[in-house]
Amino acid sequence: MGTLRQPRIVIIGAGVSGIASAITLQRNGFHDFVILEKGSDVGGVWHWNRYPGLTCDVPSQLYQFGFAPKPDWSHIFAPGPEIQGYLADVAEQHGLRSHLRVNAEVVAATFTGSQWQLETGDGNSYTADFVIAATGVLHHPAVPEIPGLSEFTGDIVHTARWDDGLETAGKKIAVLGTGSTGVQVVSALQPQAERITHFVRSPQWVIWAPMWLPQPAFVGAVLNRLPKVNRALYQAGMTGARLFTDVVTRPSWRRRAVQEYARLSLRTQVLEPGLREQLTPDYEPLCKRQVLSGTYYRALRARNAELVTTAIEAVTPTGIRTADGRHHEVDTIVLATGFRAHDYMRPMNLVGRDGISIDDAWAKGPRAYRMTAIPGFPNLFTVLGPHSPTGSIPLHHAAEVTARYITRWIQRWSAGEFDTVEVTEEATDRFESEVAAAMGPTVWNTGCNSWYFTEGGSIDLLPFDRATMESMLAEPDPGDFDFRSCASGTAH
Ligand code: NAP
Repeated sequence: MGTLRQPRIVIIGAGVSGIASAITLQRNGFHDFVILEKGSDVGGVWHWNRYPGLTCDVPSQLYQFGFAPKPDWSHIFAPGPEIQGYLADVAEQHGLRSHLRVNAEVVAATFTGSQWQLETGDGNSYTADFVIAATGVLHHPAVPEIPGLSEFTGDIVHTARWDDGLETAGKKIAVLGTGSTGVQVVSALQPQAERITHFVRSPQWVIWAPMWLPQPAFVGAVLNRLPKVNRALYQAGMTGARLFTDVVTRPSWRRRAVQEYARLSLRTQVLEPGLREQLTPDYEPLCKRQVLSGTYYRALRARNAELVTTAIEAVTPTGIRTADGRHHEVDTIVLATGFRAHDYMRPMNLVGRDGISIDDAWAKGPRAYRMTAIPGFPNLFTVLGPHSPTGSIPLHHAAEVTARYITRWIQRWSAGEFDTVEVTEEATDRFESEVAAAMGPTVWNTGCNSWYFTEGGSIDLLPFDRATMESMLAEPDPGDFDFRSCASGTAH
């Protein structure tokens, strides 16, 4: 066996998937990598999102890396800053800082035939044998096109770009959007606002959950001392999470039970028939990304709060005019209007083999083989890319499994088996067809409109369980890929 080659690797993004990728590379002996991060620090969504009330509605003991357990979370559902701190600590403890370039947005990435050439907005360039695009799903804020929005004279803020200096206490606040973010921000701003008006285009089912529950300090202390017990707890959580995957992917009495609980959450917390009717969605619970909250309905029923379901007609310099002709005076507009979730690597100028741009390759929407490989883009892999299990499987785990899969390809490159590897169109079509077929019985497909849908009308999620995801990413399947060796110029 010859000497192993050391690849140069660029990881784009220092969020959950970028960190998982970097540490997985290190653990497999690959140290020549750089992490290019557009923001000023690590954390991805947990760096960018700082809105009041930001809390993760996934239990913290599951919302962590398997290789970096944190036994001592402050809450069962951790607040955003604590998660950001956790990710920064993991990066620190694993020596990632020296690999990290912050404020370095990749503006162009071009495949030159044997390697990748990348340019960052700060004027630097990088050459790589492999690119790992860990650019995130919920990254680009969606700003609605509402007439007059730019003429508003008060403050406008999107939740994903919160202005820490924004004064909200004692103000008349309008919140637009009722996803997980809108519900959290309304709950957090209502107590101090002079008046809060929640503009809701389509109500969401909101499952009652005690998001404020602390994790007792002694639990963290005990788990810290007993890592095996902590590991067993994590494994138990992963096993429990299977139930959630099952509920969303297959119709059963379990799904119906959770849906009934969602309806009960509304019935028991909102007793006023008119308000309850306004808050009742016209689609099945769980169809959109399920919202959890133990405070939202209470906040809405407060004396300084109002729910407005009449369509917004325009924003005026001093407020919002609805289709019924009413003018709502406000000081501040909070846009909890979500993300352009399917932009992935865009707007970077990503150009693959033979000059194919990602916009052309994805003209009908994002597609990738097993969530990670894109035809036309050799030696480039995505982590939490298209069809990732954002609505069903713990994300850190999905990122770790994908990073291990990518590392297996890099090991083969390192052993000299090929210079470039590219998934075939046929294998990608086959995977996309399998995904489309399996989408049938999922709850996401029961007649609602959500950010899960791409512009092409497909659902950008993984309709499989964890075991299936793990087995499809366990080992590379060479039959699904084309290989080239540059020295001999041969394809095989
Ligand atoms: P979202 O779920 O996409 O919700 C966006 C909201 O904005 C929807 O209610 C949408 O209404 C509304 N909207 C969009 N454009 C509008 C317009 N022009 N006029 C009026 N309303 C408009 O976004 P999100 O709440 O930011 O959540 C996105 C995802 O982030 C979540 O699904 C979740 O995966 C993640 N998240 C997680 C947590 C957590 O605790 N783990 C917290 C926050 C977010 P329509 O429904 O009518 O389109």
